[in-house]
Amino acid sequence: MDDVPTLAWHDDASIEGRRMPLYICGSWREPAGGDYFDSFDPTTAEAWYQVAEAGGGDVDAAVNAARQALVDPAWRGLTQTARGDLLFRLAELIGANAERLARIETRDNGKLLRETRAQIGYLRDYYRYFAGICDKIQGDTIPVNKANMLNLTMIEPIGVVGIIGPWNSPLNTMSVSAAPALAAGNTVIAKPSEHTSASALAFAELVGQAGLPDGVFNVVTGHGHTTGDALTRHPGVDKIAFTGGTSIGRKVAANAATHLAPCNLELGGKSPHVVFADADLDRAANGVVAGIFAAGGQTCVAGSRCFIQSSVYEEVVDRIAEKSRTIRIGHPLENDTQLGPLALAAQVEKVSTYVAYGSEEGADLVAGGGRPDRPGWYVEPTVFANVTNDMRIARDEIFGPVVGAIRFQDEDELIALANDTNYGLAAGIWTSDIDRALRFATSVDAGTVWVNTYRTAAMMSPMGGFKESGYGKHNGFEAIRDFSRLKNVVIDYSGASQDPFVIRVK
Ligand code: NAD
Repeated sequence: MDDVPTLAWHDDASIEGRRMPLYICGSWREPAGGDYFDSFDPTTAEAWYQVAEAGGGDVDAAVNAARQALVDPAWRGLTQTARGDLLFRLAELIGANAERLARIETRDNGKLLRETRAQIGYLRDYYRYFAGICDKIQGDTIPVNKANMLNLTMIEPIGVVGIIGPWNSPLNTMSVSAAPALAAGNTVIAKPSEHTSASALAFAELVGQAGLPDGVFNVVTGHGHTTGDALTRHPGVDKIAFTGGTSIGRKVAANAATHLAPCNLELGGKSPHVVFADADLDRAANGVVAGIFAAGGQTCVAGSRCFIQSSVYEEVVDRIAEKSRTIRIGHPLENDTQLGPLALAAQVEKVSTYVAYGSEEGADLVAGGGRPDRPGWYVEPTVFANVTNDMRIARDEIFGPVVGAIRFQDEDELIALANDTNYGLAAGIWTSDIDRALRFATSVDAGTVWVNTYRTAAMMSPMGGFKESGYGKHNGFEAIRDFSRLKNVVIDYSGASQDPFVIRVK
């Protein structure tokens, strides 16, 4: 686009040192209580901007704006194609501002710029995909065992959608709900993580530039136990889409249950990543390294439990350890960096605690385990061998660059071990035997299964976890269903009178 407008929050430099306001009903607002808190740059551990703490009154204002926008003809009255046009325009603006958005996210959570660039490029396509779906949302005509009757379904927006997100991929995790929610005609209130709020506000500017009517998309920032709690308890919110840890997911579901709002819960994982002896071992070792050390292990689908078949166990562990020792740790803005800092000081503490648990419980530390000698929240890529599935490093989500290698003999033992977890988000398998891969895919408790690849995403592929990894799907038409309500309309055009005392079944 040639006419990229100048934005208030147009890059990380313009955010530096600023107090970032709330975005409600198409305009910037100070929080009613006047409270702000620091957001930190993980490469320096220093504050770089201030986040507004939205209180209950601010959340009320956002909900009122979103409720009004829901019935405003400027949004509700749009044809489906016109709604799609607005989302296409938003997608173009995301593309035109991709570098800016990527830099803001990298500055906020320390993710490699190469990765945030790829994610924002994907985000543009993501909105394009859902823009294209807008005028393909349609109900059905269903048979009915009566003459002169029409039996229809209508697909409608649910209403106001509250989206609460984590810090690891702020815009992408927000958009997996926002894009289908908007495409389905809902209005949105996003509450980004208190650690990474800047990109949602920069994004809100683009929503305004794209011409979405005021109140259709709002951002309230703040902490989870305050702003997040107020949003999830609010009776004016019709659906909650939450991405975050399993323990907070439980609280969110309980809050939503007070007014019976349905939830999508995209929660944690402890994904099994399997290497069979018949695999291409070099590709497999690369895949395992990519599956755990990409984004410093701070991805929900991190392949943190690596199951290796006994006959190749030592060889594969050696390959993984060797590759992990050569990973270049550095500043996330630099092109040749392969591992940046963790996003939060608390995350460094957590990873260090789990490294200690691993050694205490008898696993062998074969690579990493320490912190490199540089400022910021860096930890080394860490590999444990001789891990058993009952150890804490194999049971709990660490959300850092730590992988545990677990030995298995055969398929039966593998499936039992892989499914012996509270989680069920993703799984990966490396094998040259397609029958084996399919047996694994049908037996493993995971919402996504990757065969001879890992962490490959597509906006058309339904994604979401089982068990304590949550429920609901993002991506594809499944996401449209999750953000719509289905209505049945029955029309009698016979002109005949009805028996008032008999229900018309059959
Ligand atoms: P978190 O659960 O600590 O926080 C997530 C969000 O919830 C934040 O915005 C936070 O402010 C808010 N929150 C906290 N307490 C709340 C409360 N009482 N009421 C309402 N909201 C509240 O998660 P995190 O540390 O930000 O992110 C890491 C977690 O996210 C990991 O467990 C990871 O697996 C998960 N995650 C899952 C997916 C997925 O698609 N399944 C994707 C990315 C991250």
